Amino acid sequence: MERLCPKHGTPLESRGKLWHCEACNALYKVRGECGDCGSELEKVAACGASNWWCNRCNELKSKSKIKTEMVAA
Ligand SMILES: [Zn+2]
Ligand SMILES: [Zn+2]
Repeated sequence: MERLCPKHGTPLESRGKLWHCEACNALYKVRGECGDCGSELEKVAACGASNWWCNRCNELKSKSKIKTEMVAA
């Protein structure tokens, strides 16, 4: 999936778990927020796919229920 720099709106380059912006010369990471309770989610990798876990709801969240944003790593 393509990620964009929050400052420039330019596509970021994948660096493992992080994302690099040429223009910022900075690294970003994806932050996930639970659409149900607003807590920050933990990213868990299972079966090659990444899922989001909410500690407050105590359950995995489907992509349709979460909000993601790019934050400085
Ligand atoms: Zn940038
Ligand atoms: Zn939650």
